[in-house]
Amino acid sequence: MGISPYVAGRSSLAGQQNVIRLASNESALGPSPRATAAYEAHGASLHRYPDGGAADLRAALGALNGIDAEHIVCGSGSDEIIQLLTKAYAGPGDEVLYSRHGFLVYELAARAVGAAPVAAPETDLCADVDALLAHVTEKTRLLFLANPNNPTGSYLSAEELRRLWNGLPENIVLVIDAAYAEFVGAADYDAGADLVGRAENVVMTRTFSKIYGLASLRLGWCYASAAVIDVMNRVRGPFNVTGPALAAGLAALEDQEHVDKARRHNDKWLQRLDAELKNIGITALPSVGNFVLLRFAEDGGRDSKAADAFLTGRGILARNVDNYHLPDCLRVTIGKDAEMDALLAALTEFMA
Ligand SMILES: *Cc1c(COP(=O)(O)O)cnc(C)c1O
Repeated sequence: MGISPYVAGRSSLAGQQNVIRLASNESALGPSPRATAAYEAHGASLHRYPDGGAADLRAALGALNGIDAEHIVCGSGSDEIIQLLTKAYAGPGDEVLYSRHGFLVYELAARAVGAAPVAAPETDLCADVDALLAHVTEKTRLLFLANPNNPTGSYLSAEELRRLWNGLPENIVLVIDAAYAEFVGAADYDAGADLVGRAENVVMTRTFSKIYGLASLRLGWCYASAAVIDVMNRVRGPFNVTGPALAAGLAALEDQEHVDKARRHNDKWLQRLDAELKNIGITALPSVGNFVLLRFAEDGGRDSKAADAFLTGRGILARNVDNYHLPDCLRVTIGKDAEMDALLAALTEFMA
């Protein structure tokens, strides 16, 4: 009963038809038409159990990412992967470590298995390797790091990630949650596959919910050592991923042109927001994801709550991040061109 249920981003407004949904980091462009077609075609075999081993999808993921398909497990969203890892490796008396403004699900997952969540402080809204390592105790079992992180948009370089892993005792599982990896173009970034390849205690989690635009289907996966994969295959349900999700996921992977298009759209708006928000007088934190954290003044009538209310009045839904200990901020997802134009127009008016 100590768990506060996860509150999803708002998706509708009473009495409003054309709501601009920028609260859940959903894809601006939606899924590949090929994924939608595969999903629809699967309608003819809904009476069949899905392939519980997700063999075709894992083979395609392995080929695309240059990794061994035997070291992949699929899940009902990466959320299920996070829950399963926590269930497998932590329990009462154990600690689960993450950074202060890290993804909320880690804390909830830890509490759900009776483990103690431990948050290490961040520096300038970015995970701090030294602080994380300083919070490791003999009770620590798991360390979750969203890289890049939601809701801050910040990331650790491959070198920092390596330093974090180097400093960890090898009985602690380091989980690198790379939900936004496909959006990141920075040369010093690595989603974590490299580290998984050399270490038994590192897991990389990925999702089809973000750049692939399949959030509703619930499809995620992880790449890990044989030892961790063996455990995951023991604790997961035998048919934990649905047939429609497997079919659409496979078709989505085969349409990398669509992924490129989504990445270009995102890059364009990350740059444009950076420039235009500065003109308006709003601080936007540097982000490598498909969202941006906006920081507002704490008083003077133009605080984050007033901004949220103002945007809501214009039919624009942003994400309140009070739960992330960021009460002076709002997170906005990069949407379609017209949606971003509407966002900028509303924010300009708000700040005028
Ligand atoms: C959106 C998100 C996920 C994805 O969750 P799914 O369960 O795969 O939809 C995972 N981690 C982070 C940090 C996210 O922001």
